[in-house]
Amino acid sequence: MNEHAAVETAERGTDFVRKIVIDDNSTGKWGGRVATRFPPEPNGYLHIGHAKSICLNFGIAQEFGGTCKLRMDDTNPAKEEQEYVDSISEDVRWLGWQWEGKIRFASDYFDQMYGWAEELIRKGKAFVCDMTADDVGRTRGTTTEPAKASPYRDRPVEESLDLFRRMKAGEFPDGARTLRAKIDLASPNFMLRDPIMYRIVHAEHHNTGSKWCIYPMYDWAHGLEDSIEGITHSICTLEFEVHRPLYDWYLDAINEGRTDDGSGLWGKKIHHARQIEFARLNLSYTVLSKRKLLELVQAKIVRGWDDPRMPTISGIRRRGYTPEAIRDFAKRIGVNKFDSTVDVQLLEHCLREDLNKKASRVMAVLRPLKLVIENYPDGKSEELDAVNNPNDPAAGTRKVPFSKTLYIEVEDFMEEPPKKFFRLAPGREVRLRYAYFVTCKSVVKDAAGRIVALRCTYDPATRGGDAPDGRKPKATLHWVSAEHAAPIEARLYGQLFSKPEPGNVPEGVDWKTELDPKSEEVVRGFLESSAASAPVGAKVQFERLGYFCVDKDSKPGSPVFNRAVGLKDAYAAPAKKP
Ligand code: ATP
Ligand code: MG
Repeated sequence: MNEHAAVETAERGTDFVRKIVIDDNSTGKWGGRVATRFPPEPNGYLHIGHAKSICLNFGIAQEFGGTCKLRMDDTNPAKEEQEYVDSISEDVRWLGWQWEGKIRFASDYFDQMYGWAEELIRKGKAFVCDMTADDVGRTRGTTTEPAKASPYRDRPVEESLDLFRRMKAGEFPDGARTLRAKIDLASPNFMLRDPIMYRIVHAEHHNTGSKWCIYPMYDWAHGLEDSIEGITHSICTLEFEVHRPLYDWYLDAINEGRTDDGSGLWGKKIHHARQIEFARLNLSYTVLSKRKLLELVQAKIVRGWDDPRMPTISGIRRRGYTPEAIRDFAKRIGVNKFDSTVDVQLLEHCLREDLNKKASRVMAVLRPLKLVIENYPDGKSEELDAVNNPNDPAAGTRKVPFSKTLYIEVEDFMEEPPKKFFRLAPGREVRLRYAYFVTCKSVVKDAAGRIVALRCTYDPATRGGDAPDGRKPKATLHWVSAEHAAPIEARLYGQLFSKPEPGNVPEGVDWKTELDPKSEEVVRGFLESSAASAPVGAKVQFERLGYFCVDKDSKPGSPVFNRAVGLKDAYAAPAKKP
């Protein structure tokens, strides 16, 4: 291990996975080698939970001078697609990680896995079973009763070998037979009760085409993939803890009769990684099941996999998240062995912290109310200096146009203000940010009695936002000049779900009833023109409103902004705050 990295890790407080790596390095278990992998199944888009796993696997490789591979765990032809392979690699790269070598595919190892399967048959450790999958399930036994042996369990090796080859050759229909490991029918761990290794599926595979009609089960395949790639630490989520004995059994079964130097009947021992389980990320107000996310996409409940409300990496990227914010989040939540739910506000906090440093401030009015300054000359306009980022002096200042007719937020005015409302009201003076003090003189209404405009006066002596006599209005409002501002569409996002732990619905209730119908609100407003032509993905702070990101639906002259996150003490809080 790189010494510098070790010190850094120690200072940061080392999680249990890194402790194992440090331990292994000190005992020389893997000769100081650290090799991890991130193994998604290409059957959906990656989400924020995967980001935790990505940051852990790639982070460890980086800190310990090791390697991390990106492996598509594509052993199930039914649900896997090239689109997912592409999005997965794009998302990993966007998060800032680079995998070692080329992208690996579990399906590239099918020949080798098949060879090892034949070896287990020949060793008497696997057999072809003619039972249906349902029958296998029915005879699995209970916690107190062992499983019933398959009637094919003791079929001769030659017969199993012949049937297995014919399974591969496509002689049998889907589900007609399986290859099963011969382990322990009475094991308290159901995983070991003669698990299925291969099933027959006549289906086109995104990588291997129609070459195969038998496909390996996850447990059989995963350890072999790790072995082929020389993985040292095979990190996965807690639900695989009960699979670990099987993971180890398969590798031990292959290694039985093998030697370090390869002398003897079965050849050289194969590499056997160590599986380590950590708790998966659960996030409040968020569903992280690929199956459910796919359902939202297919039912067109969201704008696609990259809808800004989706917890997918592509969704939160579109919403305005930065890789730095996500990596910071992963660091803060840490890694442990116990399932818990992280408050989604922590994720939002990480984004706010990052954008606060980076995003330029601009003024936008999202629910416009016209404000006319009676004593400001018709046709005049002037440019006022505005600070781009109070946290970054290098960001400088810009000119903001001011004129007789402005827009302010509807919410910033009340005709009959209650006690604690300090913003604009009849007869009251407020500061317009970077501009002047204005006083409301009268309210203009339409025939229906709705307020359509405010008539005000301004104090020319307060240019820039300070009065020579030192008087200080209680409120400072943001504004835009009506004739100079650009029209925009803004999409205001809240949480997709209204329940803190969505998905825990009783039998017979559709989990989609927990979606929040108000999770997206689309409004039309006006933006300082300086920011209106920012490129897709650009992030700015609309003063007092939140951080916004230019959406890919923007067209020249009609930009669309997504609200990524509200401000900490947001005057216009996110649509719904958990
Ligand atoms: P599936 O139900 O399709 O298996 P999955 O979310 O487990 O869904 P995988 O593609 O198998 O998807 O996941 C790739 C890796 O990401 C695995 O190592 C998995 O353990 C990890 N992972 C998945 N979800 C989470 C999560 N919520 N938190 C942390 N890691 C996760
Ligand atoms: Mg999985």
